[in-house]
Amino acid sequence: MPSVRERLSRLRQKPPVERPKKVELADIVARLEESDRAFDHDLLKRVYDFSADKHSDQKRRSGEPYLTHPLQVGYTLADLGFDATCVAAGLLHDVLEDTLATREDLQERFGSDIAELVDGVTKIGQHEYVRRDQAQAETFRKLILASVKDIRAILVKLADRWHNMSTLEYLAPEARRRIARETLEIYAPLARRLGMSRLQGDLEDMAFYHLYPHQFAELQTAVEGKVKAGRRLVEEVRTRLEERLAEAGVDADINFRVKRFYSIYNKLRRRGLDISQLYDYVAFRVLTENVRDCYAALGVAHQTWRPVPGRFKDYIAMPKPNLYQSLHTTLVGEKGHPFEVQIRTLEMDRIAEQGIAAHWSYKEANKEGASDPNIVWLRQLVEWQKEVKDPRAFMTALKVDLYPDEVYAFTPKGDVFSFPFGATPLDFAYRIHTDLGHHCSGGRVNGKLVPLKTPLENGDIVEILTSSNRQPSRDWLKFVATTRAKSKIRHWLNTEQKKRSTEIGRRSVERGLRRHKVSLKRFLTQPALAGYLSREGLSRVDDLFSAIGFGKVTVKQMLAKVLTDEQLGTEAEKPGKLRQAVSRILPFGGGAGITVKGHDDLLAYLAKCCAPVPGEDIIGYITRGRGVSVHSVNCPNVENLLYNPEREIEVDWAGKSDEVFPVVLRVETEDRPGILARLTEIIAKHGSNISQMETDTREARETGRASIEVVVEVSDRRHLDKIRASVREIPGVIAVDRPMRG
Ligand code: MN
Repeated sequence: MPSVRERLSRLRQKPPVERPKKVELADIVARLEESDRAFDHDLLKRVYDFSADKHSDQKRRSGEPYLTHPLQVGYTLADLGFDATCVAAGLLHDVLEDTLATREDLQERFGSDIAELVDGVTKIGQHEYVRRDQAQAETFRKLILASVKDIRAILVKLADRWHNMSTLEYLAPEARRRIARETLEIYAPLARRLGMSRLQGDLEDMAFYHLYPHQFAELQTAVEGKVKAGRRLVEEVRTRLEERLAEAGVDADINFRVKRFYSIYNKLRRRGLDISQLYDYVAFRVLTENVRDCYAALGVAHQTWRPVPGRFKDYIAMPKPNLYQSLHTTLVGEKGHPFEVQIRTLEMDRIAEQGIAAHWSYKEANKEGASDPNIVWLRQLVEWQKEVKDPRAFMTALKVDLYPDEVYAFTPKGDVFSFPFGATPLDFAYRIHTDLGHHCSGGRVNGKLVPLKTPLENGDIVEILTSSNRQPSRDWLKFVATTRAKSKIRHWLNTEQKKRSTEIGRRSVERGLRRHKVSLKRFLTQPALAGYLSREGLSRVDDLFSAIGFGKVTVKQMLAKVLTDEQLGTEAEKPGKLRQAVSRILPFGGGAGITVKGHDDLLAYLAKCCAPVPGEDIIGYITRGRGVSVHSVNCPNVENLLYNPEREIEVDWAGKSDEVFPVVLRVETEDRPGILARLTEIIAKHGSNISQMETDTREARETGRASIEVVVEVSDRRHLDKIRASVREIPGVIAVDRPMRG
């Protein structure tokens, strides 16, 4: 039998989306005219000339003139049905970032709408931030803020991303992966949230193609084979349905399409299935004139084939938050193979494909209190995030909010709210009112008392019980799935903690002062105090107490600087001594690899949850009494810690050392003999040790897959990357992850 590697090399993968044809201004004008809008031809021409002039001496990585890119972006926007202002912004979207043009230039020449849109999609200069991820996140927040004012900013960005994805092969592998991942995590879900399913599908498939080329090729080949082999069956289903609908007098058009690769891939993974077990790769679509015919068609379908229980969804009665409407059902075909049918009106179909483009209007978009739920959603998102200071926390929160709403739950009065999967009665309480959340003592779901952490299910009727002496606890963060609830709970905890730490700090200062026989009153009028506070960036004495309560500043260090020599007397200790003692107690992994910027004396250790290795971006947190814990910036725990930005501290890898760092790798493999041996051999070849190994084959019998966890010792990130790459090459290995424990 040929190895997976050999099989794969025989597969010829094609990009999932065809390279766009070259477009010119005339094509854009033609598209704009088609959508029948009276637009300013002259302005568009001037915009084009300006962009052409500014980009004239630039080239794309592909070697093509740079102008091909803004032209393509403008065309995509015109093609989606957006107006000339939006298209103009598309043509100009890179001039602020990549040429010497200024915002004032644009404002003067083309007006404030266009200038603001282009500014909204322009990156924030790297120099304003120390760290790349921070600059990226802030750029993203800027885009969202611009989009709240004018939703077209996000549309320009999506069109930009679409074209960049379709020419991604010209970038270096590292950049390719980074951009593809960002597309999958942010931009595709954003398109989905705006109901633009075609654009979403394109972005996902292109990202999938670049991120997991082997899996993509395998899936593509398999699906193409199935489509060819199953053509007759599919036609039979269609003909039969057509006949039955005609008999029943339902006027409908039936078509089918092969599902998107990435959505198939996800489904297989979610259910742990092999490609050979894939049957519903085709979706039938029944399009009718009116809603009545939708339900009639559903009845006919259910009489012709047996429906799969629990798979029927009525998005007509309960539209998705992005206005998507359709009936979904899964039926069992002749050979027991399931297939999906979506039933909707022609108008619903247009909205399903184009989303916001189908019901978008500029007037509506700019009205205060616009009712388009997409715009309302953006506005809420910004509202809820006001308290979040760090742009990276904003980014993480956004990712959560972009998850598709899955669960609909009702108040006893019948008001419906949608929630992400995994939401609990506590999320429900916070959705209704912050105070209801803060005092939530329990929930009654469908009349039965349930624990607060019980996940809600579709159709649940939820009643919230409150108690006036109930208050949020840190545990609650584990029970909630919505950003809103999380951010409200964190805000409460933070305020509360600040109060407490101020109190703790005040008491320790008093204790310290007693030793020197100085009263608090005296201390507060100490001449050196004001200077000390301003040097430390503290505006009030309470902030000093709170810093001490948090363990950021020690009483001794502070008093040494504020009290006079006389007051300090012989009690004074040489600061160096303590510091030296502290840096010698390093729990594990040593601080040898790490330095804390500006505080060589601080105790630092690597967090166990993410176990960062040298070369990775890291971030430090001041813990209470345990020094600085160092996390990878990608660690899921960082999100929680970020809520206390004042405890964040910059850390760096110190120069080279001989140390090795333990890293957990989870290797997903086909369950076949010899893999373990091969794995150990490869890892040894890279000069690394395996210090632990665990295999989980429980699911192997059903899925044919096994999961192996190994702890390998690496010297730095490069070493780790090399090992991961080689392990991925082992025939039978499906994926290599580095699990982080949240
Ligand atoms: Mn661009």
